[in-house]
Amino acid sequence: MSTARVTVEPPRFDRPEVEVRASSRRTKTGAAHWSGTKIVVQIPARLRGRERATFVDELVTRLLAQRPQHASSDADLLARCRSLGETYLDGIAPAAVRWSASQRMRWASCSPATREIRVSSRLRACPVWVVDAVLVHELAHLIEADHSSRFRALAARYPRQREAAVYLEGYALGLGLASEGDSFEAER
Ligand SMILES: [Zn+2]
Repeated sequence: MSTARVTVEPPRFDRPEVEVRASSRRTKTGAAHWSGTKIVVQIPARLRGRERATFVDELVTRLLAQRPQHASSDADLLARCRSLGETYLDGIAPAAVRWSASQRMRWASCSPATREIRVSSRLRACPVWVVDAVLVHELAHLIEADHSSRFRALAARYPRQREAAVYLEGYALGLGLASEGDSFEAER
């Protein structure tokens, strides 16, 4: 016999929503996986207080550091966009999303006319939360084409947007890409 107690921790600046399933079947080990934009963790039911919080933190941090988009397909990107659009941008969805090896494009591009988003293959090496920030940025362009204050407010609904920009600046330096100011999309 087993029981699972489910609690939901709302998104914080450093992580998405986390659903915690405390199971009496688990005694020592935990597990974590993505469910849409949410992380689901399974932990032993006996954990309490700080020990429980640390256990959850470690599972979440480990999952956030993984790089599953190495094997991500265009269909995976589209599913991710739909989920992010639901969560942050009132259900906005692109017509298509695809990985692109174009060297002219820095991180991503969006064509408001065709509602198509392209994502640079360079981002396959980045953590999921960074790619999510880029996708929310491009989705916001489906509502607001230029980088207006309204656009920035929409993009900033994704909690780690600024942190992702800093990450990508460092990543660009590491790749030897020239710095050219606000060059989220070199090709627009
Ligand atoms: Zn942009």
